[in-house]
Amino acid sequence: MKEKLEAIVKKAMASMNTANSLDALNEVRVDVLGKKGQLTAVLKGMKDVAPEERPKVGQMVNDARSSIEKTLEEVKEKLERVHMEQKLAREVIDVTLPAKKAAVGHRHPNTIALEEVERIFIGMGYEVVQGPEVEYDLYNFEKLNIPANHPAKDEQDTFYITKDIVLRTQTSPCQARVMEQGRLPIRMLSPGRVFRSDEVDATHSPSFHQVEGLVVDKHITFADLKGTLAQFARELFGPETKTKFRPHHFPFTEPSAEMDVSCFKCGGKGCRFCKGSGWIEILGCGMVHPHVFEMCGIDPEKYTGFAFGVGLERIALLKYEIDDMRLLYENDYRFLKQF
Ligand SMILES: [Zn+2]
Repeated sequence: MKEKLEAIVKKAMASMNTANSLDALNEVRVDVLGKKGQLTAVLKGMKDVAPEERPKVGQMVNDARSSIEKTLEEVKEKLERVHMEQKLAREVIDVTLPAKKAAVGHRHPNTIALEEVERIFIGMGYEVVQGPEVEYDLYNFEKLNIPANHPAKDEQDTFYITKDIVLRTQTSPCQARVMEQGRLPIRMLSPGRVFRSDEVDATHSPSFHQVEGLVVDKHITFADLKGTLAQFARELFGPETKTKFRPHHFPFTEPSAEMDVSCFKCGGKGCRFCKGSGWIEILGCGMVHPHVFEMCGIDPEKYTGFAFGVGLERIALLKYEIDDMRLLYENDYRFLKQF
């Protein structure tokens, strides 16, 4: 019995030490220790051993088993180490090679301009609110004091889905929706895409972007409007920027004004950029019309407010001195990569 066990161990050791792969090593393990393995067969033969001999033989089988298992483990570790070293040698990385630059792209000039405007107003405590692009006529026109006979409602100017649903022509309907919720005071910015039935040319597009702002609180005056927008202009175009307000008409504000900023190219002296006037028209604004408040469920005797709207493309065109709006939509990479 002893010789038999010694022969099994000797043969197993030789096979393990010459195994050149983990698979070959596993075959040795199955062949010796497996269910039908040689050592297992010896254990099964224990019933033929004399009872007084059994403990001694059992001990010998266990010793054989543990010495084989120990060697199995050692060879396994060695083979795994060799395998890893070969793998590392194959996948060597030359850190001195120049890296391939990933083309990650960058933000569109419209997006850069929007984030700049948002940053300025968020800094003043405004909240950015999004609204639907497909909007009820009620919110797009009626609640904003634009009556049925107003030229803006003409089919030549607006895309109608049905009689009562339009592609919004401005982002103000979003303001009507927020006012209706009645959570006062309000300090909000509503940026987004708007739609007008315009032919494409250097300054027009059927789809463009607006950023509109609304403030509603007690004791808001025209001085708040002027101070806020003057600060906005200084942050956007530089600390020397001056502003001026010209009377204008909008249905949803009274009084209404258009704001000009001093030309940031010539400082107001007059140049080609400002067409010699020294001023650049930038946005429309005004005090919220009491009728708009009433239609949105706010008491105009208690609350006042101001609103303003600026074309996002207008800001991008001015800021980057682009003279044709179509360039912003053509997605020509040679143009876009400049910003
Ligand atoms: Zn100028």
